[in-house]
Amino acid sequence: MKVLVPVKRVVDANVKVRVNAEQSAVDTANLKMAINPFCEIAVEEAVRLKEAGKASEVVVVSIGVKNAQEQLRTAMALGADRGILVETDQELSPLSVAKVLKAINDKEQADLVILGKQSIDGDNNQTGQMLAALSGMPQATFASVVELEDGALTVTREVDAGSQTIKMNLPAVVTADLRLNEPRYASLPNIMKAKRKPLETMALADLELPLKEHQKVLAVKAPSERQAGIMVETVAELVDKLRNEAKV
Ligand code: AMP
Repeated sequence: MKVLVPVKRVVDANVKVRVNAEQSAVDTANLKMAINPFCEIAVEEAVRLKEAGKASEVVVVSIGVKNAQEQLRTAMALGADRGILVETDQELSPLSVAKVLKAINDKEQADLVILGKQSIDGDNNQTGQMLAALSGMPQATFASVVELEDGALTVTREVDAGSQTIKMNLPAVVTADLRLNEPRYASLPNIMKAKRKPLETMALADLELPLKEHQKVLAVKAPSERQAGIMVETVAELVDKLRNEAKV
């Protein structure tokens, strides 16, 4: 059974980001980049399926700039077998990413595609759902437990009211939520081994997909600064401020 895991290169979650001077995007120049944390969870789940003897191959794919190779190598150091980079300098919308992933999966014919539930830069939470719809595959989003038995997948999903468990046939799409697992750290020997694993690179144009610009970013703004708090002397003063200034 083959598992395909799309991984996105994003600014490291621990880095404080700033909006560029044109207010058109986050300034990523010289920032530490990493695998999107939810994609890391997806890689971990795929690798665990392989270690449990339920998957035979884990393939990671990234659509992005040349340096996204770094994130594919990291995913391979975590246990993925090979990587595919679809190289482009364009920032694609989730629908275009889903179309590219469908084209890759039409070739790869994975039994299971595990994505992150969301990329932490765009906060889109769309790609897995769109990939499933475009490919006519069943989907289980926000997965917190994935079990594979006799060619069928049982997935527990995190929903508002608690959890929901569903069963689906393969091939299927799953999106990983935070509680699915705790990703491992890559060991030094595995980082070295990952350098020799196969990494195929292709240009986005080579896929000859009729991609459209589905959306346009009009402006990006930093959140407004919080005003400094003040200390009050008495409870009466606090109640007065709550009533007359905060209008509680
Ligand atoms: P999003 O819909 O942008 O929140 O992303 C959800 C998931 O789709 C991510 O966690 C990745 O698994 C996948 N994904 C999104 N963008 C890319 C990309 N450029 N390359 C590979 N996978 C991606």
